[in-house]
Amino acid sequence: MQTITILGATGSIGCSTLDVIARHPERYRVFAITGNSQLRPLMEQALACGARYVVVADEQRYTEAKALAADMGVQSEVLCGVKALEDVSSAPEVDAVMAAIVGAAGLLPTLAAVKAGKRVLLANKEALVMSGALFMDAAKQSGATILPIDSEHNAIFQCLPHTFTYGNLPASGISSILLTGSGGPFRERPLTDFDSITVEEACYHPNWSMGRKITVDSATMMNKGLEFIEACWLFGASPDDITVVLHPQSTIHSMVQYVDGSVIAQMGNPDMRTPIAYGLAYPERIDAGVGPLDFATLADLTFSTPCRSRFPNLYLAIEACRVGQSATTRLNAANEVAVAAFLDGQIRFSDIARINEQTLNKMEPIDVYSLQQILEQDQLARHTAAELIRGLM
Ligand code: NAD
Ligand code: MG
Repeated sequence: MQTITILGATGSIGCSTLDVIARHPERYRVFAITGNSQLRPLMEQALACGARYVVVADEQRYTEAKALAADMGVQSEVLCGVKALEDVSSAPEVDAVMAAIVGAAGLLPTLAAVKAGKRVLLANKEALVMSGALFMDAAKQSGATILPIDSEHNAIFQCLPHTFTYGNLPASGISSILLTGSGGPFRERPLTDFDSITVEEACYHPNWSMGRKITVDSATMMNKGLEFIEACWLFGASPDDITVVLHPQSTIHSMVQYVDGSVIAQMGNPDMRTPIAYGLAYPERIDAGVGPLDFATLADLTFSTPCRSRFPNLYLAIEACRVGQSATTRLNAANEVAVAAFLDGQIRFSDIARINEQTLNKMEPIDVYSLQQILEQDQLARHTAAELIRGLM
């Protein structure tokens, strides 16, 4: 029996995690679930899964959350605030933590789980993009196991050899990591239309159902850029070890190419319950509720290289990855601000990449490592991006 905390339980990954867990009551017990603003769905989840704690990230809503819990007959203890998020991630009773808060807000609770040596099911890619070296060092020190949940990284993890040694791909016979991405909804849209892309269009993904921020990131391919950086940290790869491949059908979730010419790919229907189930049960396999691939009806599988002028955010992220931690921390922060402004109707779709690029251009690369330095750079970049956005309005 594994005891699990789910950070970001009300989100797309959180709901899929609870779905998989509910299929295996003999294997998993929920210790805590957390949410931010959707109090009623969070309390409904608490009733359904019997979590011992329910944490609301926003402290201002404590009284409201307590009252609602009492009203709905929720037995779980209600807690509030970032400290409580950290506590339920690091509590001694907890075996595994699903890190599925979106954005920089996920960093502190995820890091708390890492420092406490938990089995960390990492969906939140922003934490690693913001603080890769610190994060991986903390895992090494505490003995935490990081299991990638992002479908591409989960696929790569499944395709690695048993002899894999972190940070030495050639020693494992690997010549390249092939990171696949669908290209999102605007893969074929005329570039001249990009200024007029609406929020509704950008929030529709052809293959995956996800939260709004990652869906917009998929449309700009910033998501693939963040995943490029994430892959470098997770597997100890250098930027030259990774190739991004456009694969619109999202049937192959990524591949590992070997020096002998072999390529090993992980395939499946595009449903996050597969990598979630893999992370929960590793090294075993359990039913995820996902149907098998039907090869009789499978459409053609096609591949190409993503175009720089169509997806400037992807190439910006790859360049930031080469520059180092200060650049990736700032890029992540600027992107969060720019995507929020786009979703709010303040800027155009094509402005997102402009804000990101200009933010990076305004700040000289520096050495950052400590949590304090990282949070400082995150804040500075948010201010810079917000100023640039005001200049556009
Ligand atoms: P989502 O928007 O559906 O859910 C986000 C969750 O985070 C919600 O529970 C929300 O309450 C919580 N949250 C938001 N702001 C918060 C804050 N300030 N403090 C505490 N909690 C907060 O997002 P999602 O699509 O489930 O994605 C979650 C993470 O997983 C992201 O980092 C995303 O990149 C990653 N991911 C998602 C998918 C997917 O298919 N959805 C795939 C791969 C990786
Ligand atoms: Mg992904």
